[in-house]
Amino acid sequence: MHDEPNTKSKENSGARPKQKPSLHDTVLGQFNLAADRCELDPDIRRILSATNNELVVHFPVRMDSGRIEVFSGYRVQHNNALGPYKGGLRYHPSVQIEEVRALAMWMTWKAAIARIPYGGAKGGITLDPADYSETELEHITRRFTYSLGNNIGPDYDIPAPDVNTNAQIMAWILDTYLTTKPPDERQRCIHVVTGKPVEAGGSEGRDRATGEGVYYVVQKWAEEQGKRLEDLTFFVQGFGNVGSWAARFLARAGATLKAVEDVTGAISNRNGIDPEELHKHGVQNGGIAGYESADPVDHREFLGTEADVFIPAALENQITGETAPLLNASLVVEAANGPTDAEGEKALASRGIEVLPDILCNAGGVIVSYFEWLQNKRAEVWRLEEVESKLERTMSESYERVARAAREYDTDCRTAAYIVALKRLEVLYKERGIFP
Ligand code: NAD
Repeated sequence: MHDEPNTKSKENSGARPKQKPSLHDTVLGQFNLAADRCELDPDIRRILSATNNELVVHFPVRMDSGRIEVFSGYRVQHNNALGPYKGGLRYHPSVQIEEVRALAMWMTWKAAIARIPYGGAKGGITLDPADYSETELEHITRRFTYSLGNNIGPDYDIPAPDVNTNAQIMAWILDTYLTTKPPDERQRCIHVVTGKPVEAGGSEGRDRATGEGVYYVVQKWAEEQGKRLEDLTFFVQGFGNVGSWAARFLARAGATLKAVEDVTGAISNRNGIDPEELHKHGVQNGGIAGYESADPVDHREFLGTEADVFIPAALENQITGETAPLLNASLVVEAANGPTDAEGEKALASRGIEVLPDILCNAGGVIVSYFEWLQNKRAEVWRLEEVESKLERTMSESYERVARAAREYDTDCRTAAYIVALKRLEVLYKERGIFP
């Protein structure tokens, strides 16, 4: 997938190229760099380098044709010292244990930076949803939920949407989980998933939260740099939940969207692309390809777009030693998880391109998931304005925490973000001690 953007082939289902470091190597490399920098206690380093629990389930589902297919599903729980495990579920051909492990670790850091009381987890199923009917996806989701059993739970491990999963899938998980509980317990369990449809107990504003959070980070950065959003140009890779909302918020604030890429292709217009119109086109046509108010471009041309900000909002390992030299932006705002690998990071640094890291930028989703979880627990319903103003405050405080650490430790923003998370966990472990 990452070697061949814009192809939806099944050849890349699973195995990554042999010589390339895995996503787990990437997260451990980042972690170790920050742990060295802040002289993290070696015992805490050992604890946080490992995941607490890793569950792999293989489960059969009857397809529309009557044939049985067996799927592999994962849930990795990295750490729950700060609160229940929390993290999305991804449906994608590349899902395998090492990828899920890395994504689970990132969730722990993200929640710690945002100071929300969660640990980190992630999960998924190895499949391409485009290959299945709606009914099949419902049956796969329900059977996966049943297989997870009590390994998820409203105060234990709380899934949410991620790549190729959405509010509908969360509603099926909710319904299946509740069905396995005695009737008098069901109402107390609706916070077993977040990112639910609003009618099923979801929060106003959860759909846009990750992209909106990305926008607040860019806003803070621009303020710090004395730049006006109206003068900023940007381009986005991935026009799904995160990318399209980030683009819409930035465009509403006056910034100009110059190019977009998704799995169906890439488009560019130096005079600007209207993300609201593009979103409508994408919903109607299943992707951005064929959008008439911009020109189709190839992947290299897309990456070379001249703009202030590049927002990768698709999948991991997109900015590498090979692709980083193509960029013509001065800032990378990581909306996707793990879009930059270690070589890419070095290449960006050598070219003076600043990076605002994923564990800061894309925390808006888990923050509003926390708000949803709180509303469910307290039987409250918050208005959209309330959710958005609390999200803005939380993102802004996270940004400031990371900026302070960057100054204090005289380091880059990614390492500073890790230091904020690691120092918080270190204090907690020292206070609580280790059983027995
Ligand atoms: P999504 O499924 O809604 O959208 C993914 C987008 O990426 C689609 O537009 C797809 O066409 C595009 N894409 C896929 N492969 C591509 C390729 N090879 N080249 C170009 N584009 C490609 O997913 P999402 O929820 O928007 O998630 C995007 C990223 O953000 C992921 O890394 C995810 O882990 C991360 N994230 C999501 C959330 C959330 O709340 N949804 C929260 C935090 C982080």
